[in-house]
Amino acid sequence: MPSASTYSRPSSLDEALTFIQSTSGKALKILAGGTDLLIQMRAGLYPDTALLDIKNIPETMSITIEPNQVRIGAAAAASEICANIQLRQLYPGLVEGIEYIGSTQIQSRATFGGNLCNASPAADGVPALIAAGGTCLIVGPEGRRINPISTICTGPGETALGQGEFIAEFILPIPKPGSADAYLRFTPRNEMDIAVVGVAANLSVDADGTCTRAQVVIGAIAPTALVASDVAACLVDQPLTPKIIDKAGEIASQLGSPLTDKRGTSEYRHQIAGVLTKRAIKIAAERAKKAH
Ligand SMILES: Cc1cc2nc3c(=O)[nH]c(=O)nc-3n(C[C@H](O)[C@H](O)[C@H](O)COP(=O)(O)OP(=O)(O)OC[C@H]3O[C@@H](n4cnc5c(N)ncnc54)[C@H](O)[C@@H]3O)c2cc1C
Repeated sequence: MPSASTYSRPSSLDEALTFIQSTSGKALKILAGGTDLLIQMRAGLYPDTALLDIKNIPETMSITIEPNQVRIGAAAAASEICANIQLRQLYPGLVEGIEYIGSTQIQSRATFGGNLCNASPAADGVPALIAAGGTCLIVGPEGRRINPISTICTGPGETALGQGEFIAEFILPIPKPGSADAYLRFTPRNEMDIAVVGVAANLSVDADGTCTRAQVVIGAIAPTALVASDVAACLVDQPLTPKIIDKAGEIASQLGSPLTDKRGTSEYRHQIAGVLTKRAIKIAAERAKKAH
């Protein structure tokens, strides 16, 4: 088993803060599902690190659909998120993103908080989470703050969270009528694998099918998930014709600085980013039309 000098499983945010303060100055890691962290600890990373297990705190575990917003606990399991029919209706692409993660076993542990804070450029849950345009509640020794989700990942394995801070929950707007999202990823094989590229599109269309709002976020082509503002700008105020969608794909295929590795070359990733962007836009647009 991984060694931890101290372990705490508090049942409230206040108890969590008391533990964080008691470890002041020592290394501390947040433990959610552990599907990334325990592997890293077994590999020898984070020796003598205090562990704060946040899977027993009501705010971090619950999924609540309120009249104006959706609150998703940062430590709610992927399986709970995927089983939530109301959430899937509001944010099908968000659920698709977390649904890609691992296997049934991994899904019973993996969380949005861990997927975001592990800060892999290829994380499947992250593009749609950012494209949703929400915020997160961050709790830490200095108190509580609300930050846009898009500001959390700052580089591979790096986040904007300070010492002792953790994300308690994600707060997303209820999509307006005529709005929907979609997430697609490409992997070289059907078994569990890491995304070569992943694309989330989140769109609004009016009754005539003209795009009134767009957000496109692309994973695995840059050090963090890339907010493709130029792609979005090409869609807004336009009818979503094949020509416009092709143009959006063309713009997407030129973005980022993807790596060459065993899953594909940089050129290949550029090309896949263009293809997936077109497909994700088409799916999100179809869903958005039906959401009037
Ligand atoms: C077999 C296997 C297959 C996988 N397949 C995929 C895949 O297809 N796609 C994919 O994207 N990922 C995949 N993963 C990676 C992993 O399952 C996901 O990244 C998962 O979402 C991590 O969530 P977790 O709760 O287990 O995180 P943990 O392992 O608990 O934590 C990960 C990191 O985030 C930090 N952290 C966790 N929660 C918070 C929080 N609320 N606030 C601040 N910091 C926090 C931890 O300290 C740690 O540094 C796979 C992993 C395995 C083992």
